[in-house]
Amino acid sequence: MAKRPKPVHQLTAAQFDTMFPDEHACRAYLQARRWPDGVHCPRCGNPAVYDLPSRKWHWQCEQCAPDGYRFSLLVGTVFENTNKPLRDWYRVIHLMLTSKKGMSALQIYRFMGFGSYKTAWGMCHKVRVALIEDIEQLGGVVEVDETFIGGLARNKHKDKRGKGGGTGGIGSGKTPVVGAVRRKGNIVARVVQNVRADTLTEFVREAVSHKVSLLCTDSWVGYKHLGDEFPHASVDHKQGEYVRSVAYYEKDAVVVGAVHTNTIEGFWSIFKRGIVGSLHKVSRKYMPLYVAEFQFRYNNRENADIFGTAIAGC
Ligand SMILES: [Zn+2]
Repeated sequence: MAKRPKPVHQLTAAQFDTMFPDEHACRAYLQARRWPDGVHCPRCGNPAVYDLPSRKWHWQCEQCAPDGYRFSLLVGTVFENTNKPLRDWYRVIHLMLTSKKGMSALQIYRFMGFGSYKTAWGMCHKVRVALIEDIEQLGGVVEVDETFIGGLARNKHKDKRGKGGGTGGIGSGKTPVVGAVRRKGNIVARVVQNVRADTLTEFVREAVSHKVSLLCTDSWVGYKHLGDEFPHASVDHKQGEYVRSVAYYEKDAVVVGAVHTNTIEGFWSIFKRGIVGSLHKVSRKYMPLYVAEFQFRYNNRENADIFGTAIAGC
């Protein structure tokens, strides 16, 4: 199995309370994260904005509107037009980031004591949107694999690729997801329409640098042609083969390394346990947001400032 990821250094509940005793502290924190170099106009980027003396956390830009453009701290963030205090939002984000397998909107609704489940559900989705990352193309040793998430229990034991040459188990209610992970590095995962060769190749071209040292997959036919473009090696799970050693080039030196897909399978395992265990039914429509959430947690697993990184994206 894949190595256990290092424990994430996260804010404890006590640290959270100390950092965010009130709404003022939350707003000051958002301002510092949103504009680390000072407040800028969100419309034109002008750094020379004026405080509005009559309204705290509001500024005015004289550059992009004849009568001045007034904006608030929250404009353009996921917190805009919210009727919840920022502190509630922060608490929700903290809960989402500290639970490895995610937290359902139902759990959050109960924990936070919100008036409606829908409020919690809407907040969680807005946070997931904020967690969508831009990842640089992966280099080094990269594993690529695809999986099917969700669907009906009675379909679970069927071949994961479904019938019909990788149409993605269409009709089974399962959603195909493909991912690429750099060993000891970042993951890029995405919901796809199917797991045919053209779809998978397109994903790999986007997610993986052509300068990659080694690209590992299993022996699924959809990966067969990756060798035309990438230094590609595969393991054949059907033959009982899980790890194999190959020689490849890294910075012009020959290295012997292992061909396997254990790292990404470890990620799928966390993701599936999260979806099945705490999130229950996830429709295909929202699957990209759950993928973004799990990807963010994985890629920031050693980031001591994961909370601040999340707030900066809000
Ligand atoms: Zn402006």
